[in-house]
Amino acid sequence: MNEVIANFSKLTFNDKVMKERLPKDVYDALKKTIDEGKPLDLSIANEVAAAMKDWAIENGATHFTHWFQPLTGVTAEKHDSFLSFTKSGDIIMDFSGSELIKGESDASSFPSGGLRATFEARGYTAWDPTSYAFIKDKTLCIPTAFCSFGGESLDLKSPLLRSMDALNVQTLRILKLFGKECRRVFPNVGAEQEYFLVDREIYNRRKDLLFTGRTLFGAKPPKGQELDDHYYGSIKIRVSAYMKELDEELWKVGILAKTEHNEVAPAQHEIAPMFSRANLACDQNQAMMEIMRKVAKRHGLTCLLHERPFAGVNGSGKHVNWSISTDDGTNLFAPGDTPESNAQFLLFLCAVIKAVNLHQDLLRISVCSAGNDHRLGGNEAPPAVVSIFLGDELQSILEAIETGKNYDKREKVEINIGVDALPRIPRDSTDRNRTSPFAFTGNKFEFRMPGAAQNISTPVTMLNTALTNVLDEFAGILENAENFNESLNKLIRDTIRENKRIIFNGNGYGENWEKEAENRGLLSFKSTPEAVPHLKDQKNLELFAKYGIFTPTEVKSRCGILLENYVKQVNIETLTMLEMVRSDIQPAAIACCRELSESLIAKHAAGADLPCKAETELLKRVSTLSDRLYDATCSLDEAHKRSENISDIEEKALFYRREIITRMNILREAADELETIVSKALWPFPSYGRMLYVV
Ligand code: ADP
Ligand code: MG
Repeated sequence: MNEVIANFSKLTFNDKVMKERLPKDVYDALKKTIDEGKPLDLSIANEVAAAMKDWAIENGATHFTHWFQPLTGVTAEKHDSFLSFTKSGDIIMDFSGSELIKGESDASSFPSGGLRATFEARGYTAWDPTSYAFIKDKTLCIPTAFCSFGGESLDLKSPLLRSMDALNVQTLRILKLFGKECRRVFPNVGAEQEYFLVDREIYNRRKDLLFTGRTLFGAKPPKGQELDDHYYGSIKIRVSAYMKELDEELWKVGILAKTEHNEVAPAQHEIAPMFSRANLACDQNQAMMEIMRKVAKRHGLTCLLHERPFAGVNGSGKHVNWSISTDDGTNLFAPGDTPESNAQFLLFLCAVIKAVNLHQDLLRISVCSAGNDHRLGGNEAPPAVVSIFLGDELQSILEAIETGKNYDKREKVEINIGVDALPRIPRDSTDRNRTSPFAFTGNKFEFRMPGAAQNISTPVTMLNTALTNVLDEFAGILENAENFNESLNKLIRDTIRENKRIIFNGNGYGENWEKEAENRGLLSFKSTPEAVPHLKDQKNLELFAKYGIFTPTEVKSRCGILLENYVKQVNIETLTMLEMVRSDIQPAAIACCRELSESLIAKHAAGADLPCKAETELLKRVSTLSDRLYDATCSLDEAHKRSENISDIEEKALFYRREIITRMNILREAADELETIVSKALWPFPSYGRMLYVV
């Protein structure tokens, strides 16, 4: 067998392995849990644990860990070895069903946003049997949810699982109305991950990259991305070796990476694995980011996942492709070929349109982070305003339905949804509008606001929840309808009419759009500190409680944590900047002044009337900039000290946004200008040119 195929998923305890290794009744019970969300009893878990352990040991594992996603956004793990003692004192390799199902962990070192104070410090991790266990570094990783002992969610995965359950319930109601019985529906997710690769030696010499993941200083290189010659350009040898090994490592753990290409910015690339069920896709994306970083080290490279590592070139996003399918694989966002299936498609389409319009705030909040603030609303990333792109074809169809005009615009004939044949909706009718934050791309939606470093569980949770809410409302209306087709027609027409402000097919980067969006009354939260507090708006608390996604306490704690993370990140950046200036940049500026002064003095001493224009003017310029740098440093330092007295987290985050970040920008400007004048020999850090072009 081909080696790649033989190794594919070698380190994943997937369906194939389960089928091979579990007794039939155990496999069937586990399958029911996976496919239908049925609870699993301990005797079954014991058998699964035993099989999992044997498989893991055969594949070189010595330890196991409950692998979970605390609110820091990264993954956490606590390793235990399989070794244990029998009563007679012999050493055995052991792993029980209860160890598989539940683990205890000290929750006190993970953010809980105040939940810890009211509840016990202990937390527990609970096995998510719907996401495959895998082996990493000789450790069996068991995907789990992480909760407090009171059952409050302390992670990003449990709300995602809850939202998948809620979406399932409401979608099944709708499908039933169309005469479809199925056992379960699932959201599917495929995440396109953007990243930068930089030479490790160069990276190690940049304190800002080391401490914060992005450059806090750096003058523009002579060549930026204006030529667009990197996009789909030929891949450099070192990068290509990296991509090859990355693929192999990902395949081993069952992540089907299939497309790789360069991105627009120099040194920027993208990888997109094949889509899978939402929770598995989110887990796999977390694992993938870790593997991307690790493999890079082996190639003398560093993989940067920050949303905006370099000013002046594109940032990195993570496009979340999202759709819903039934357990037999039917995609509910795929346009149909018959009037009936088209009617169902249109209903789901309208539900998504309404969900996005109604819950713009949640989608915006779901992508908030200090890093992503540098990306959203920048010139080349999606704008910070949420809107939907449908493409001309679909747009005309919706207009025809709304206005009662025939699609080809000749006659005014009402389209009777569910009865009349609609114009065929071509699969690839959507031209690629790269500027839209939320685009329909044929049979899925592509949410482009999430940032490259982000855990995508939250954006997917919000999409699921928003849609659940609308489907619930739609099901209520249609279930009580006297005439199904009539009500369906009215519902679709009304929904288009009432929610069309969210549809925008134009250029999202244009300045006009910002104005127009404002006129349409669309929300525009410019930054994390402005957006996040709205998570706990009354309507959201009610929404989350209604579908069992978050309790009000959980929502409030999450707001606090998001803002705390924001403040921590910007605080580290501030301290790093201050240090870089004081110990490296200011001394370089002063040394430069000294060199120039010494040259001037030497020339004067040489006696002859030598021309000194260059030295004199440069010395003036560098001295002025050096003073500006000094003043900007003092000003940042002073504001930073003031921030320490603010105890309210919302106020503090806003202070960071308004006072600290403004001062950071002023400081950077002075330093970047100095970099263009001070000699390379004196400048303490590798330039943008070296970071972006030496790989
Ligand atoms: P693009 O042209 O936007 O790059 P691709 O076909 O490469 O589109 O797909 C991008 C991502 O979308 C991949 O991860 C892919 O698996 C995923 N994807 C494709 N179809 C679906 C779907 N129905 N639901 C969710 N994700 C999907
Ligand atoms: Mg795409």
